[in-house]
Amino acid sequence: MPIYEYICLDCKNEVELIRPMGQADAPLTCEACGGERLKRKLAVFYAHSGGRVVAGTAPVPSCSGCAGGNCSSCGH
Ligand SMILES: [Zn+2]
Repeated sequence: MPIYEYICLDCKNEVELIRPMGQADAPLTCEACGGERLKRKLAVFYAHSGGRVVAGTAPVPSCSGCAGGNCSSCGH
């Protein structure tokens, strides 16, 4: 499940919550000031996993027509 970060627009308090994707925008109350105007930031889970994928495959050129990032079998 992704970790969502929210920031309170009233007091700038930041909140991290693990939630199902379907509830990413469900109403939330700020613990610090009791306000309900919280804005969702990036989902941490996806940001981190995306970074790993890019770093792991970047050194090897690949195309969509061959497996494993090795293009010697398809002529690219
Ligand atoms: Zn607040």
